[in-house]
Parts: sequence; structure tokens; C-alpha cells
Amino acid sequence: MIFFDPFYLLVLGAGMLLSLWAQARVKGAFAKYGRIATRSGMTGADVARRILADNGISDVRVEPVAGRLTDHYDPRTKTLRLSEPVFGSRSMAAFGVAAHEVGHAIQHAKGYALLGFRSAWVPVANTGGGISMFVIIAAFLLGGAQGSAIGNTLAWVGIGLFATTTIFTLVTLPVEFDASHRALVTLESGGYVTQ
Ligand SMILES: [Zn+2]
Repeated sequence: MIFFDPFYLLVLGAGMLLSLWAQARVKGAFAKYGRIATRSGMTGADVARRILADNGISDVRVEPVAGRLTDHYDPRTKTLRLSEPVFGSRSMAAFGVAAHEVGHAIQHAKGYALLGFRSAWVPVANTGGGISMFVIIAAFLLGGAQGSAIGNTLAWVGIGLFATTTIFTLVTLPVEFDASHRALVTLESGGYVTQ
């Protein structure tokens, strides 16, 4: 039965560890580059607006949002929201985050297909991931661990629902790398930062 399948537990455990490691890396990098000042006198919001203009994008709004590392680009309303520590900051970290989020706006403007898929997949993954835990618990209560047919079937349905979040993660990776790549190119070519 899959509840005690070592491969199942291994995949689950590895995924959780990877996620924790990635979060720690992001926080660490932000703290490190948050201490490095830039010389231009611009804030994260200024840089975002300038790079948008450099790329001929004039219909994206830049506004502050509460919280830490809550920065995101919303393609539905064409709004780039920068967290307060980024919006008004002149640090290297703020420039990096702002440019990365602009990278998403550029993806949107250029019709980058994976970004569209990811946006469309968000409700699917939210629903699937949310229900999956209840289905897996129900499978367990209905004798899934003892190998009952209904329990077994439900366990696989639960895994299928959970897989919607895995697909989201797998699509997110290339979208994020692409946005960061676009950000680096524009930060350098625009002369906002030196090597
Ligand atoms: Zn991103």
C-alpha cells in the first residue's frame, strides 16, 4: 500500500526539504544584497518603472504591497506589486527583485506561453492541492493502509489531485528562470548596475 511505500515517502520528504532549502536561499540572498547600496539614487519602484519604459511597456502600474517577499506581477490587472522593503529601497536586493518582477511583465507583454499556462493553472492547483489532503485522509480512514479497494482508489485520486501542485511547481521553474534572465539582461544593458 502506498502509505508505507518507501519511494512515496522519499519523494514527499525530498520535496519538502527542497522547498525549505529554496526558501532559506531566497531569504539569505535578500538579506545579503539588502546591505549592498546602489549608486544611482533610484528606488526599486523607480527601477521597475524605468525598465518597463525601456521595454516599451506603458500600461503596467507599479504599486506597493504589504509584507515581505510578497512581490509579484498580476497579469489580470497588469499590476506590478512590490513589497514595501523593495518599493522604496535603494539596495541591490531591491533592484534584483524589482527587475525580476518586471521580467514577468515582459513575459506577459511578449506572450510567453508558459506564463499564460501557469496563470491558468493556479486555480486548478489551488483546488487540487486543497482537496488532496482530505481525500488522502479519507482514503486512510476507509482502510487504504490495509489495502481496501475503496481506500486504495481514493489514495490514488488524492495523489492525482496533489500532482496538480507538482505540475504547477514544474512549470514555475522555467518561468522564474526566464524572468530572472530577462531581469539580468535589462539591469546590465540599461546601466542600472555595474558588474
Ligand atoms: Zn517570479
